[in-house]
Amino acid sequence: MSDWPRRPRLVVGNWKMNKTPTECAALAAAIRREVGDAPRARVAVCPPFPALTAVRTALDGSPILLGAQNLHPEAAGAFTGEVSGAMLSSCGCVLVLVGHSERRHGMGESDALVARKLRAALRERLSPVVCVGETLDERERDLTREVLTRQIAAAFGGLAREPARQCVIAYEPVWAIGTGRVATRDQAAEAHRVIREALGGSLSGESGGQIPVLYGGSVTPQNIGDLVSAEEVDGVLVGGASLEAASFSRIVAAA
Ligand code: PEP
Repeated sequence: MSDWPRRPRLVVGNWKMNKTPTECAALAAAIRREVGDAPRARVAVCPPFPALTAVRTALDGSPILLGAQNLHPEAAGAFTGEVSGAMLSSCGCVLVLVGHSERRHGMGESDALVARKLRAALRERLSPVVCVGETLDERERDLTREVLTRQIAAAFGGLAREPARQCVIAYEPVWAIGTGRVATRDQAAEAHRVIREALGGSLSGESGGQIPVLYGGSVTPQNIGDLVSAEEVDGVLVGGASLEAASFSRIVAAA
């Protein structure tokens, strides 16, 4: 997709491996109704692969963007069970999650693989939402800065100005995802500053100042206001609370 305007507020729903295509279409239609035609934030939803087409149809003509949860780094070939960026684009996706912690830690995705997926997304003009974040053990050992800097450098190292401007980053502390344990405003702000610093050192000829950095991890309608009151937080990536139209639309309204 084309460049994001300067640091827009963005709310992305990650539906993970939940709901059938029919249920996803119903959820998308309900979100569309609740969010309305002119939401204050940019909004995207990432259903499971089999539901992409049904959700695209349900969102046809609405400003809500369609995203996917993963892609394979290669364009095509003998990769049974995988899905390419071109396939996602042809289903109407404009963005794709890359390096979600459930893939890094659950499926063994390395920093190097995440970097390849980011570039594969860009080749297909998809905006990669690159997820980074430390585990609880890493935070307790005071390694948060080191982990975030390593993940950002591995993903963005040497990327040029134009492709970089299509990217989004999501800071998702692993200990906050699906746990009900949310980062404080100060923890999120500090991590976002580290990410911006690391971006500046990784991109070639570009500060990365226009790349939105979202927070993700147990975001709810109750805690969104505090999180986005930090100027470093450009929006949110929402898992559990995006599975109900009422809670997701309240998050969008507060973002
Ligand atoms: C996520 O899946 O990216 C996420 C942040 O999940 P949750 O909001 O449920 O913690």
